[in-house]
Amino acid sequence: MLRFEDALARILALGSPLGSPLGSPLGSPELASESVELEEAEGRTLAEDVVAPGDLPAFDYSAMDGYAVCTRDLEGAEPYRLPVVGESKTGEVAPPLASHTVMRIFTGAPLPEGADAIVMQENVVREGDMAILGTRPRAGQHVRARGADLAAGAVAIPRGTRLRPGHLALAAAVDRSVLTVTTKPVVAILATGDELRRPGSEAVPGTIPESNTVALRSMARRAGATCRVLPYVRDDKGAHERAFASALEDADVLVTIGGVSVGDHDLVRPALEAVGVTLEFWRVAIKPGKPLAIGRFARPGRRDAIVFGLPGNPASAIVTFALFGIPLLRALQGDARPFPPFVRARMTRAHAHDPGRLELARATLGHGPRGLMVTTFGNQASGAVTSMAQAEALAFIPEDVTGVAAGEEVDVVLLSDLCD
Ligand code: AMP
Ligand code: MG
Repeated sequence: MLRFEDALARILALGSPLGSPLGSPLGSPELASESVELEEAEGRTLAEDVVAPGDLPAFDYSAMDGYAVCTRDLEGAEPYRLPVVGESKTGEVAPPLASHTVMRIFTGAPLPEGADAIVMQENVVREGDMAILGTRPRAGQHVRARGADLAAGAVAIPRGTRLRPGHLALAAAVDRSVLTVTTKPVVAILATGDELRRPGSEAVPGTIPESNTVALRSMARRAGATCRVLPYVRDDKGAHERAFASALEDADVLVTIGGVSVGDHDLVRPALEAVGVTLEFWRVAIKPGKPLAIGRFARPGRRDAIVFGLPGNPASAIVTFALFGIPLLRALQGDARPFPPFVRARMTRAHAHDPGRLELARATLGHGPRGLMVTTFGNQASGAVTSMAQAEALAFIPEDVTGVAAGEEVDVVLLSDLCD
């Protein structure tokens, strides 16, 4: 059985643009890209370096409402009395500052030529056309200098960045309305099982509402993929093979749900192999999610399709797709940081553990006097659909311990970092 880290590394290598470290070529190292309007670029991954065409900001401007002054003009003892001449408003170029005068100026307005500091209006007394300054400002005070954020030619946002709202603002600030991003991977999601029916359909005894595809589709879309949820597949080998072969015609990633364990009706692995999928591995030493099959499907002239055979239990399916599937979808888009950083959190209460597998315990987060706190749920059953709705994080309970005590620190992954 593979350890978590090894499974993740192998999956990310499958998704990396340069191909697999196992030596198998996965197609062109250049990711396909397309141009999108800035407004549509949220969550996409940059396929170009966004470079500042000019200095940011492009001109010196005032950070305050107040008066533009030339500090060298303030001679002798405080206070200083100077006439107010002219005005600098936003959206206009101000006239130069006349010697031994001050100029009215507003936040965002260009610093007039000859001025080198701003005195905020709260610190100025007006007597008619005269301004009285109580103290001498230092040169540069309340001035946002040209190029202070970025110099012309600097990389504002590097290639491989998954675009968050702050990146969109920066792209706009460096005058971009269109960005080159990598194309969306196509994900096909396929649930298996004779017991499955659509939510809201007739409740035939023995059947259950199918609840995984809607969650996985939402996660994959948030990770930047185009998703197709295919019709449920009966527990019949021929039906599995037909559905898999058809899905693999145009999916970059095929996600199957259920039937990947060792029961008599677990047909996914043999059916995948029958249609030509090469299984990379199918067991990971984690709980939930031990039976997780990962495979590759060769496509002429294109990179291999990647197959995820997820276990059907709702918590197992969602946890494994969050930890392995989402980073894979990000890696396929050239994301330079497909897996989020771990954070450390202190357990609010003890958590018992059977040694053997790394446990990804569903948990909530909170704040305590000593920092971030994590509370693992009492019910960690892999079939507990409620737990996935309540979970904010996964606490990593090490494989070799018999439990973690209250107050002990563990690694935590925030689900919002994976399914944001
Ligand atoms: P399996 O992995 O096929 O052995 O299924 C394990 C458990 O998860 C069984 O209780 C199934 O009924 C349930 N299950 C499988 N697929 C789904 C699904 N798509 N939605 C909800 N429950 C499922
Ligand atoms: Mg099943």
